[in-house]
Amino acid sequence: MPSFLYHPQILAFFHTAMWLASWLILVTIVFMPLEQLFAAKQRKFFSKTLLSDIGYYFISGLIPSLLFTPLLLLIAYGAHAVVPYSVYATIAAWPLWVRVLATLFVGEIGFYWGHRWAHEIPFLWRFHSVHHHPKEIYFLISARAHPFDNAFIRLCGLIPITVLGIATPLSRDGGTVSALLVLILTMWGFLIHANLRWRFGPLEWLVALPAFHHWHHTLQEPRDRNYASMLPCMDWIFGTFYLPRTEWPTAYGIDTTLPESISGQLIHPFLPHPAQTGSPETTRLPEPVAADR
Ligand SMILES: [Zn+2]
Repeated sequence: MPSFLYHPQILAFFHTAMWLASWLILVTIVFMPLEQLFAAKQRKFFSKTLLSDIGYYFISGLIPSLLFTPLLLLIAYGAHAVVPYSVYATIAAWPLWVRVLATLFVGEIGFYWGHRWAHEIPFLWRFHSVHHHPKEIYFLISARAHPFDNAFIRLCGLIPITVLGIATPLSRDGGTVSALLVLILTMWGFLIHANLRWRFGPLEWLVALPAFHHWHHTLQEPRDRNYASMLPCMDWIFGTFYLPRTEWPTAYGIDTTLPESISGQLIHPFLPHPAQTGSPETTRLPEPVAADR
């Protein structure tokens, strides 16, 4: 076997790919039968997009972390030079569970705004529209995203917790806490995209569940709602919460066209776009929040 294959970074790459393959098998064993039994919308699991969904799953698992790990380290070093030491000392003294909760809350504020900007800023929407392109939503759609979009939104969540020192790669347990956050958000992403018709009553106001996020992918009005990944309270606070009691969206997707292939979709955001390009969502005036529960 060629010796370059034993280079530590190549080995780490293959190790991550194997780890991702194991997770893919696990989440498929969990979600595939559930989606067959409790589907919100009837669909074939072996659809014509399945292979590209799996391709995106590996791209999303391998590339964004390569982009943001060195950046977060740089930001952590920069923040340590600027933020008073007393702030870090106070936060470091918090029990681990308090830091995990603070990480979730502060990270979610950053994630909410990163996600909202990805809808409202036409340049960012070019990348994020890849995630909204599918007309059927099921668990694997969670990973179907442009790696730059994935990295940008995750960074928006990770930068505030890094700057405040709640979970920085330089602090005690900090790397573990932010890695745990990414793992929880990734797993939660599969759940909120899952094609499951389950409804959870008032719990859906507290924790993001499938119905909450399926309304984020709706093609019908009102759009641009429910940006939070785990805590719908972010959408109450910032005025974008929408969750009908029983209804589901009738259609998903975007009303512009994208190439169907992965390579075409990865290149598409970098191609010249007409000045007015962006999703119609980016140019609509905001409507009043229509939460009816
Ligand atoms: Zn979105």
